[in-house]
Amino acid sequence: MVLEALDYRTDQPIRLEIAEGSIIQISECPKLLPTNSYIAPGLVDLQINGFKGIDFNTKGLSVSDVEALTHILFEKGITSYFPTIITNSDTATESLIKLIASACESNTEINTAIGGIHLEGPFLSPEDGPRGAHPREFIKAPDWDLFSKWQRVAGGRLRIITLSPEWPESIDFIKRCTDSGVIVSIGHTAANPEQINQAIAAGASMSTHLGNASHAMLPRHSNYVWEQLASDNLWSTLIADGFHLPDALLKIFLRTKPNKSLLVSDATSYAELPTGSYSGHIGGNVELDATGRLFMKERPSMLAGSAQSLLWCVNQLIRKNILPLPEAWNMASIKPTEAIFGKVTNDLKVGQPADLVVFERENDNLKIIKTIKNGKIVFSIPDEK
Ligand SMILES: [Zn+2]
Repeated sequence: MVLEALDYRTDQPIRLEIAEGSIIQISECPKLLPTNSYIAPGLVDLQINGFKGIDFNTKGLSVSDVEALTHILFEKGITSYFPTIITNSDTATESLIKLIASACESNTEINTAIGGIHLEGPFLSPEDGPRGAHPREFIKAPDWDLFSKWQRVAGGRLRIITLSPEWPESIDFIKRCTDSGVIVSIGHTAANPEQINQAIAAGASMSTHLGNASHAMLPRHSNYVWEQLASDNLWSTLIADGFHLPDALLKIFLRTKPNKSLLVSDATSYAELPTGSYSGHIGGNVELDATGRLFMKERPSMLAGSAQSLLWCVNQLIRKNILPLPEAWNMASIKPTEAIFGKVTNDLKVGQPADLVVFERENDNLKIIKTIKNGKIVFSIPDEK
């Protein structure tokens, strides 16, 4: 397969050859190409709860749901994602993990698209604020035996765990996770700065949606947000949907860690549904308004999760001039793989897997034209001509 478009990093026309799932050659393209058509690495979403009516956290989730969701995400330029399972009962968590694992085992396309499972809970803070929308009844101290059981059910696919290091059990737990190759991300936490630093020393390497799921008021000088932001060892994951973080705060977070920030959608099943009122497992009664903001119906100032794609977040950063296109795109494509695997595994380079997208730039809005996973076209917009 040959693709010709502008390199998203340089605006230069390139010709890219793909064989056996990998990029085998990149050369200058002498042809005159459309000036708004770009090629870039596929997007990678490390935190996604659902999309367009399908929820990874719903009882009754089926293999065909996971397949449908994978295809919806291909349309959004995602070539790899980490289905996120939030706090639930032990049995419900186990059955959701089992379902995702069996979806991977029964379908090669799903298996290659799912980079791993992200377990967000139940070892979080029970305090209101940090807890967010996670049900308090199931929140508990880190339990290695329970996690190991879930990891066996997952067939080793549990790749990221979000936890709060405020529990005395957390340090030993973090060491065991890190030793077994699981990424520990600090989130939904009320930990004090000392506990944050102990967690980092034990191997925690990421912050989950930094700045969200926290107390409304914090001590001004010493708190868990500053401590995580100040640590050079932690990646920040950020929800840049335009609602979760004010632009000024987002800019400060990005400037503090220009090389260790990445974007996640944290999308819920309400993402891209028609505007209106809904009720469900997360948040109860919620409303999605015309601007794309998802909030609690009874308390409209409270967000009820994200209803936007990772692509929307990239678009936000570009449209608001917070970051130029290449940087914004990298934070949602190559940076996530670097954070998880310790090196970029999806770069626009010879020898890398052909996980790619072709997009068009129209009035500061990026539109996906084609998505390629392991050298195979998995989405292509119907030809309008
Ligand atoms: Zn969360």
